[in-house]
Amino acid sequence: DVQEIWRKDHDHFLHPWTHFDSFKKDGSLIMAAAEGAYVYDASGKRYLDGIGGLWCVNIGYGRREIAEAISRQALQLAYFNPFVDTTNIPAAELAAKLAELAPGSLNHVFFTCGGSTANDTAVRLIQYYQSRRGKRDKVHVICRRDGYHGSTYLTGSMSGKPADRSPNLHFITDFVHHVSSPNVYRRPEGMSEEAFCDQLVAELEAKILELGADKVAAFFAEPVLGAGGVIVPPKGYHQKTRELCRKLDVIYVSDEVVTGFGRLGHFFASKDVFGIEPDIIICAKGLTSGYQPLGACIYSDAIHEVISAPDPDGWFTNGYTYSGHPIACAAGLANIELMEREDLCGHVREVGPYLMQQLNTLRDLPIVGDVRGHHFMMCVENVADPATKELFPDEVNIGKRIADHCERLGLIVRPIGALNIISPPLVLTRAQVDELVGILRQSIEATMKDLKA
Ligand code: PLP
Repeated sequence: DVQEIWRKDHDHFLHPWTHFDSFKKDGSLIMAAAEGAYVYDASGKRYLDGIGGLWCVNIGYGRREIAEAISRQALQLAYFNPFVDTTNIPAAELAAKLAELAPGSLNHVFFTCGGSTANDTAVRLIQYYQSRRGKRDKVHVICRRDGYHGSTYLTGSMSGKPADRSPNLHFITDFVHHVSSPNVYRRPEGMSEEAFCDQLVAELEAKILELGADKVAAFFAEPVLGAGGVIVPPKGYHQKTRELCRKLDVIYVSDEVVTGFGRLGHFFASKDVFGIEPDIIICAKGLTSGYQPLGACIYSDAIHEVISAPDPDGWFTNGYTYSGHPIACAAGLANIELMEREDLCGHVREVGPYLMQQLNTLRDLPIVGDVRGHHFMMCVENVADPATKELFPDEVNIGKRIADHCERLGLIVRPIGALNIISPPLVLTRAQVDELVGILRQSIEATMKDLKA
């Protein structure tokens, strides 16, 4: 009974990121089933899932192999204490597999419950590492505005989306800092992409030197910023920031929670798309395609050598009840096996350019200001005037209005401010790209009509 579910939901389930102004006034959309790239609500209405759950259902829904791996592991060994000197087979196997897939010397894995806890762990791991090298004051962390790294106390503070920094919440500012967003579309008027890149790199260098290179522990960067607006940094940005961090002895962390596991056509984008080898890669989401909650902090031999030496002062006191959870790791292994067997990365490299090309056809609509992203991580930015890039007033809620029309017409896209995010399951076919872009066009047109009325 849908009314009864709505009542229970409304009275008892505080949703993540709840906006109380719009909280379930007319009942939330209840998703009840899914298959491939489609989800079905409780009334049986079908939607093409243009956001892959939340950038995570990479292999698509209803995959029997994953369900069976989960069920087998649940019967075999659902759980056991992972602390210190106990392990389980799927965790060991998955750690070795990640070490094989990750670039360079990233051969060690700390498992967590998701992306936030993986970033949180990375900060603690790096601070521990710096201290063990005798650099006790090297604790500061630099992130970017528009970056998103999670929603624990620490990672919520590392995230840099201005709209998410409510004055009614508290943020850690004594050792967490931000530099500018590498948003090419919103770069200063008249500045070339190259000059913009140099300005960003100079700003990062100035920030490190202002804090003192001997005090800065790490720089955190998503290869393509996700929730902050699918921002692909200017050409050369990754190499230059990587080089700078190496020069100033700052650990470079690539947060690949969204960009990893095929979304950009490779298991990891840092090396294979952007040509850099970070010291640490963070992943979650696509690691299990959302079938189980799991995150991982994959770190280098050099870090491991330092932290694994005998510690006369104590030990690395960090870990979760569910670190290396056997069922989640079994799901991760089955997910990777399926991705490799079906060459989903290859599929993304083949269909990704088509998705980009079709989304670009929307530029003839008078409110489409920008279409950007890479392969299966895309967004459309809607503006009041593409010539000046002027935004609609906040109260127009343009992204949400368009997403509501999409929902009515059978497509899920994610609204973030003026943007509509598109991050479909990696199994999306060309025909489904056409379906997605067709509905998005109709929805933008319907929204334009509403605004004129
Ligand atoms: N890092 C990035 C880049 C993300 O996009 C997200 C979630 O969207 C996170 C970290 C946090 O992951 P989780 O929500 O699994 O804690």
